Amino acid sequence: MDCIFCKIAAGSIPAKKVRENDQLVAFFDIDPKAPTHILVIPKKHIASLGHAEPGDAPLLGRLLEAAADIAREQGLSQGYRVVMNTGPEGGQVVDHLHVHLLGGRQMHWPPG
Ligand code: AMP
Ligand code: ZN
Repeated sequence: MDCIFCKIAAGSIPAKKVRENDQLVAFFDIDPKAPTHILVIPKKHIASLGHAEPGDAPLLGRLLEAAADIAREQGLSQGYRVVMNTGPEGGQVVDHLHVHLLGGRQMHWPPG
């Protein structure tokens, strides 16, 4: 499958990884939208949140748990934002489910 995040998960494309275990990988976004911008992805290919199945619930929980833990590690004590762009109108560009962890500046609401 020609999926860039599957290739990062497999190690065949380099990324600045901050965490890796049997289920997930976290790495710095190549085009950061905040001083800290990290992506947390499952190693399993799931195209988007809309493609997740009931059995994926524990894995989705792991992604959020990792995001919160990495935020602590990165010193984002004043807060941060976790985003899952889903589908074309959600702004999803890479069709492999990912959690954006953004921090280090004031976030605004509503998002664009
Ligand atoms: P999304 O728009 O939610 O699909 O976000 C995809 C994100 O992946 C964007 O923020 C990109 O900057 C990021 N991205 C794309 N290719 C890479 C890569 N090779 N390494 C790290 N981040 C990437
Ligand atoms: Zn993939």
